[in-house]
Formats: sequence, structure tokens, C-alpha cells
Amino acid sequence: MEGQKQTHQFKTEVRQILNLIINSLYSNQEIFLRELISNASDAIDKLRFKSQTEPGLLGDDPEFSIKIKPDGITQTLEISDNGIGMTFEEVMENIGTIAKSGTAQFLEMIKQAQSEQSLTPELIGQFGVGFYSAFMVADKITLITRAAGVPKEQSVRWESSGDGSYDIQYADKEKRGTTITLHLKKKEKDELDFTDQWQIRRIIKQHSDFVAYPIRMDVEKEIPIPDQELIKDKDGKPIGETKRRVVEEETINTMTAIWAQPKEEIDDKTYEEFYKHLSHDWNPPLARLHMKLEGTTEYDMLLYIPSKAPFDMFQPERKHGVHLYCKRVFIMDDCKELVPEYLRFVKGVVDAPDLNLNVSREILQQDRLVMNIRNNLVKKVLDLLTDLKPEEYEKFYAEFGPVIKEGIYTDHNKREKIASLARYKTTKSGDKWVSLDEYVKNMQPDQKEIYYITGDDLNALINSPLLEKLKDKSYEVLLMADPVDEWAMQSLHEYGGKPLKSAEKGELEPDKKDDAKREEFKALFGFIKGQLEAKVKEVKASDRLKESVACLSGADYDMSAYMEKILKAAGQKPPEVKRVLELNMDHPVMAKIRALYEKDRQNTALKDYSLLLYDLAVVAEGGKLENPARFSKLVGEMMNQAIGA
Ligand code: ADP
Repeated sequence: MEGQKQTHQFKTEVRQILNLIINSLYSNQEIFLRELISNASDAIDKLRFKSQTEPGLLGDDPEFSIKIKPDGITQTLEISDNGIGMTFEEVMENIGTIAKSGTAQFLEMIKQAQSEQSLTPELIGQFGVGFYSAFMVADKITLITRAAGVPKEQSVRWESSGDGSYDIQYADKEKRGTTITLHLKKKEKDELDFTDQWQIRRIIKQHSDFVAYPIRMDVEKEIPIPDQELIKDKDGKPIGETKRRVVEEETINTMTAIWAQPKEEIDDKTYEEFYKHLSHDWNPPLARLHMKLEGTTEYDMLLYIPSKAPFDMFQPERKHGVHLYCKRVFIMDDCKELVPEYLRFVKGVVDAPDLNLNVSREILQQDRLVMNIRNNLVKKVLDLLTDLKPEEYEKFYAEFGPVIKEGIYTDHNKREKIASLARYKTTKSGDKWVSLDEYVKNMQPDQKEIYYITGDDLNALINSPLLEKLKDKSYEVLLMADPVDEWAMQSLHEYGGKPLKSAEKGELEPDKKDDAKREEFKALFGFIKGQLEAKVKEVKASDRLKESVACLSGADYDMSAYMEKILKAAGQKPPEVKRVLELNMDHPVMAKIRALYEKDRQNTALKDYSLLLYDLAVVAEGGKLENPARFSKLVGEMMNQAIGA
């Protein structure tokens, strides 16, 4: 019985993705099969997990498998699984839409990359295009699926030629699971024949050998005809055929759980294929960690660091990549309990034979064994990163730096270790990245603190007037232009025994006061403060400035200007913190303003100068003027006067 057929348009982003896949990945067509087999294996994983609490779901079909059927006559390739299947709504949601948030931005990025001729499979690989990759080889795909536990009339048939729309209707499917039929495109001269069983066998061996469920195919074979069935002549010699062709179902993959194998027996290629299967990432991993722990608790761990950050790294709903197994049986994917957020890029498998199998997620969090594994995993991953070669680490940091730095304020036990993995540009580093260890090593003999400054623009930071005196003394300053740095610096008060100090807060040189000079400026500063009452909490002599005339700073525990900006951008209303206007007593213009003030306290220009000094400080830090038009007009008038004189 078939239901009414409905036709739906693909969402725009699906159409864009399809175009991208078809146009950019065809040199590596065969991996569509890996993607479909991975999906099938995931669907079985999901059912297996669910059946732990609902054993009835397995019905009379308890043996999991994936079946591949190439057919040269109809030019089709069929991939079937008896996994969890999909309901009508799930098909609508999963196939034909891309539900992942951030897709639009991702596509925008791809578009830009494309115009710069740098669109590579790496980029699209970040996305994990999965199912749609089958349109590289098929001009029509039919998917029939029946969700576990639903009556057969609620099966669903989905079909599309990948050209913008798909048909969907209720259908009948005898057994649970999903069958995907690819109607193969006409093969070009050099292209692979995906109905050739040897080709299929090779592709499965190469990309999917370790899939945990049998991947079966009907294989045509020649077998010897048994002796008693042979036709023989009078001398007992066989006449005619001695072999016959039969079709036999064969399991193609070895299903080896590679994490449980000794390292020496696994080659790089196999490690890489396993990673791709597991992560749905198309790029090879940057590094891996494979270890067996023996002792009071035993477990295997095979972890990977990807080479590229997924495009949705900062989407809260994205999945973590560590799968939990028990004695080689899949328990759950996305095991957040094993991996802290700041290592959410790590992919891999943990297999713990002693795990209590009736775990629920809530219990898992408090499970002693799980906590033990988590601690060890964190330690090993941080060690692995510490030991990467500098050029590899640089690649890692460019992708995941902002993520790992989250650990500085979320993992108090590992704070210093994680801080040692952070890298910064500095006032002296040029294009290089500098670690805190290097910074400390290069400190000036009289320098006691580690200086840093935060903001959103490296260029503005490096030129900030707040750094003039520090630069003059040859003190290096860390330039922190990443929002997470703000949070990190609120937790990291010292490193290697040296206090960290913001260049925009508190006193830089409390003991170097020129009190006589300060006294001379006291009255003028009081006047300026009066003019700027609503804007600043204090006007004072600066110990930061050398060339510039004005800057804004904060007290030691004030929120930084950048933090205020971040919070506002996130739609929050941080408490208004008035800042301190610092003025450079050594700047000639300050002496002139003071002279004018002393001569004629009523002079109206003094008010303008006060406002201008404040505006100059705002402009210097890349801030927004309250009244840019007034600023521009005043400066224009002054230029006129200056040139006239
Ligand atoms: P991904 O696998 O990266 O999520 P896909 O486009 O390959 O992306 O698949 C989208 C979704 O469709 C999957 O997340 C899954 O929910 C569903 N799906 C795909 N193939 C199957 C299958 N064989 N059985 C059940 N669900 C499937």
C-alpha cells in the first residue's frame, strides 16, 4: 500500500551543498560508499543503544548487518541496514534539509573561498556532507525506510534526482531499517564501475573494514564441483566442467576493533580510514593517541586531533566526538561525560570493559571509572599537544586555539598547563606566536610582571598609547585579540610565578611619582574632571604615555573596555563603568593648556580642549566617539587657526 505522493523543494542550502559536492569532490567519488556505510553503521549503533532499554525493538531481527547489492543489469547499487530507520518526520528533517545551525555562514565562507580559487575538499569536508555525496555517482536515489517499532504501513519512500526537489510518500517495507538504491549515472570512460563486485569489495576493504557490523554482499564464485557429482569417463577422468559458478553471501569487512589491536599491527592508512569513518571528516587527522591502560582498571583509548575545525565548533548543540564502547560493543556516541568542553574537538573511541552497562547519562557523570578515564584522557591529550612538533602545533593552534583556551577558566586543576599551550602575538613577536614560557624567558631583568592588553583588533592594540611607556622600557606586551582571552585573564592571575598585569588597568609604576609636577597640574586636572563629570571617574597624570597626550584606563578590578564591548555585543547590559582619563604631563600641549588655564580660567576654549582630550583618548583605542561631528568640526577649526598662525 502506498500513500499519497508529496513533492517538496530542497532547502536552498541543500541545493547549494549539492552543487558544491558534485562540482568539487568528483575526483574522489568512491567515498560516497564510506559515507552511506557510516550512516548505516550509525543507525545500527543508535538502535543497539535504544534496545538496551527497549529490547522489544529488535523483534525477530536481532542480528545486525549491512547489505550491499550491486546490479550491473539495472545499473543500481543498493545499501541496506537493519538499524533504527526513520519516521516520515525524520526523513523530512534529515534528508532534504540541513538542520545544522551555522550552515548559512558556512556556505558564505565557501563562496568567498571559491572566488579565491581555493575551494578544496578540505573545506567541504569540514561540513560532513554524508548522504548527499551519493549524488556524485547517482542521478536518482530512492530511499525506503521503516523506523524500529512502527507498523510496516508507516514506512516511508523518498526519491530524488538531486535537482531541487524530492518526492515522499508512505510505503510498505517488510523489515525495519533503511534501504538506499542508487540509480547510477552513466559512467564516463575513466570512471569506476560501482556495480563491479571487485571494485565494491576493494572500496569497502579500504574505507570501511573496521565497521563493527558485517557488511555483506552476494558474491559470485567458482567452486569445485564435488567429486561424486562429476561426470567421468571410463578411466575416471572428469569430462566437462569441474567448477561451477555459485552466488554466496560473504562478509567483506573484518570488523576488527582497531582500538583493541596492538599499535604495531596497525598502519597509518588504517588509522586514518578509521578516523574518517568515525568522524565523518574528509580530511586526515593531525595527530592521534592510541593507548591501552592496564592496572586496576583497564581500557583502550584511540583518540584523534582533527586537522580542521568543524564549521560549527562554537555552536552549543554540536556533538562531541568520543564514542564509548564496552568490550567492543557500542554504548553511545557523543559521550560528553568523558571529555571536557574545551577538548570538544577530540574524536575517538574509549572502550572500557569494566563499565556498568546499565548506565544512564546521569549516573555516568558520577561513575568513578568514567571520572578516572576522563582525568586520564585530559592529561594524555594535553601531553600530546605539548609534545607536537612546533609546525604541527601551530596548525593545531590556528584551528583550535580559542577552544583550548576556554580550559584556562573552566579547568582549575589544569589551568597552568593549558595556559602553557596558549600562544599570543606580542609587541615584539611580528608574525610569530609566543608562548607564556617564551615570554617569561625573555623578560627584562628589572621586569616583574607579565603585561597584556585585550581588544578586538591586533593593529589597534599594538599601536595603543597605553603601551608607550612599556615599549620604551623594552617590556614585551601580550596582545590578546580573542574574546576568550578576557575570561581566561580573569582566572589566570599568574604564570610561572609571575603576576599577569593588564596594561590598561591600575598603576603601571606606582613608585615612580613625580609629585612636584603632579601638584602643578592638579588644578587643571580638577577643571577637566569638572567638564567630563558624566564620562570619567578621574583625571590623572599618566605613567603609561610617552608620545600621546591622552588615554583611558581602568582600576585594577574594573571591567576592561573590550569586555564591556563583548558583553554589549552579546546583548547584555554590563554595569556602566566610568574610566580614568590619563593625561601626559610631558606632552607640550599639556603645558600650553596649563598656561592658558592659569592665565584665563574663564577662557571658553578650555572646555573644548577638555572634550577633545577625552575624544582623542577614545579614538586612540579604536572606540566610538559620542559626537564624531563635533570632534571633526573642532579639529577643523584648530587646524585652521594653527596654519593661520
Ligand atoms: P550526517 O550523517 O553527517 O548527520 P547525513 O546527511 O549523512 O549527515 O545524514 C543526515 C541524517 O540522516 C543522519 O544524521 C541520520 O539521522 C539520518 N540518516 C542517514 N542515513 C540513515 C540511515 N541509513 N538510517 C537512519 N538514519 C539515517
